[in-house]
Order: sequence, then structure tokens, then C-alpha cells
Amino acid sequence: MSNFESTLEIDCTGRGGADAPVLELLEPRSVLLGPRQEVRRVLPHKLRRMIGAWCFVDHYGPATIGGQPGMRVAPHPHTGLQTVSWLLEEEVHHRDSLGSDTMVVPGELNLMTAGAGIAHSEDSPPDHSATLHGLQLWVALPESIRHSASRDFTQYQDLPSIQRDGLRATVLIGELEGATSAATAYTPIVGAELAVEGDVVLTLRPDFEHGVLLIDGSASVEGQELAASEIAFVGSDRDRLHLSTQGPARLLLLGGEPFDEPIVMWWNFIGRTHEEIVEYREQWNAGRDRFGAAPGTRPTDGVAAAGPERLLAPPMPAMRLKSRGRQR
Ligand code: MN
Repeated sequence: MSNFESTLEIDCTGRGGADAPVLELLEPRSVLLGPRQEVRRVLPHKLRRMIGAWCFVDHYGPATIGGQPGMRVAPHPHTGLQTVSWLLEEEVHHRDSLGSDTMVVPGELNLMTAGAGIAHSEDSPPDHSATLHGLQLWVALPESIRHSASRDFTQYQDLPSIQRDGLRATVLIGELEGATSAATAYTPIVGAELAVEGDVVLTLRPDFEHGVLLIDGSASVEGQELAASEIAFVGSDRDRLHLSTQGPARLLLLGGEPFDEPIVMWWNFIGRTHEEIVEYREQWNAGRDRFGAAPGTRPTDGVAAAGPERLLAPPMPAMRLKSRGRQR
């Protein structure tokens, strides 16, 4: 997924006060990715930039796309982050500058590590089904890995799960209650889809901060009722978390060690300074090697909204991009 909020400066770091249990409601905002592509963006949020290293959360759909193009995201770059694609319905055609050319389908974790630079495209296939629904998440890479040639795209099909009364949890990345995903993370994080019915108590790592997003259904987290796409941020220093639903509900648990490095997030790039972002932008728009060859030509399926071959980065904002520490 591509970030089109190019005019916003986003110093995407955590903030103080998360070293204890809290209960904050993070409401999403609507963002248009194209003429017919609307997402609800919950992170970064004015109240809470990050949850662990998780720094970007888009929830899209369920949207009826029968007879329409569906998802159309032309080749675009990323730096300094991992993308986590988690589909709930339909499928998406993923291509990237590593040569990956594959379908992203529900129930499989699709993890792309940008390292110093990568490019990818995401499109609904021409014969796509009627409903598009999913989550697009970014994880900030730490300093020790972000410059490296760690570019990678891996699909994880056999994710561990936890099943007990009222709960079926699928662990995307990290570890939850002894179930450990094979997905590669570069800072201690956890991500898990939770199918909950009734009252459930989860066991958490108290050194992590956590948030829970409601995907669908009706649910509360530690008594905080959630609407779809909202996150209850619960801070850290908790070893138990109480979830309660009316009927079946799906939620997404995100957590991790508070990410202490100040980072700058602009368009589809994560860096540390204004100058780095300027360099990434110039290199991408000039077609330089950092990102590898952009994935192949877009499907010529007669869809007028197919868009440009490559998404070019917009002009930099007039102000300097700043990075700030967690304590704002
Ligand atoms: Mn993307």
C-alpha cells in the first residue's frame, strides 16, 4: 500500500507515558488512495505515533468491488520498514523489485522487508472476487538493519494458532502465549489476529506496549468499547488483557518493545533526517538503483483507472522534516 499523505510531516515516534498501563482510544481517519480507494488510517495518530515498532496501520473494506478495478497501487518504493499485508477477503497481486510475482491471499502473512530500498505494486487481479477487505501495516526497522541489503519478500502460510474457549488466535509475527511465528522481525514485536466470542483474557508480555484494533463485530478491550477500525491502546506493564464481545468479533493485537529511535516518515519512506528523505525521493524519481527495477508493466486489462507505470514522489513540503524523540 502506498501513503499519499505527502503534505504531512510525520515524525513517527512513540511518546512518553507508555511505560505504564493506559487506555487510549485511537480513532481512524479516512484517507483516499485513489478515486475509489478509501482506507481508515489509525497509525500514525496524533495521540500515538507507534505501538512498538508498528508505525502505520491502514484498514480497508469490506468494500464491494465487483465490476470495478479494486485495488490499484502502481509501483512505488519503500525504505527502512517492513510491510505486513494481511488480507481478510479477496486476493491481491503482489509484484516487487526482487522479482516476486504472487498472489496475496487471506490467512497468509505477506512480509516485505525494504532494508535500504525496495519497490512493489499491488493490484486486484482482473478476475477478482466481489469484496476487498484487509489490513496494511508497516514496521519500522532499527538502525542496525535499515541500511542493509536485507530486501526480502516472504509468504508465511503455516502460522501458529492458539485455540481455547472463545478464542482462536493466529500469530502473524512474534510470540503470543507460547505460539511463535516463523516470520522475521528485527525488534521484539507481536502481531496476532484474534477471533473472539464472549469473554477472553489474554496473557501479555509486560515489557511490551500493546494496542488492539477491532476488525469487525462488537467488542470491548479492558472495558473500552470499540467501533470498527478503532484501536484501544493499553500501554505497557500489563500481563493480562480482558476482551469481551457480543457475538463473534475479529480483532488485531499489535505490540512490541517501545521503539526508542526517532524516525522520520514521509510518503513511503522512513529515514532519520530530512536530508535522507530528500535523497530517497530524488533517487526514486530518477529511477536509481537503490530500489531495484520496479516491477513489470501493469496489467493491460482495459481498466481506465490503471494509473501511471510508477508512482512518483510528490514535491517535498516547504518545511524541513524533523525527527524527535519519544518524549515530545
Ligand atoms: Mn507499499
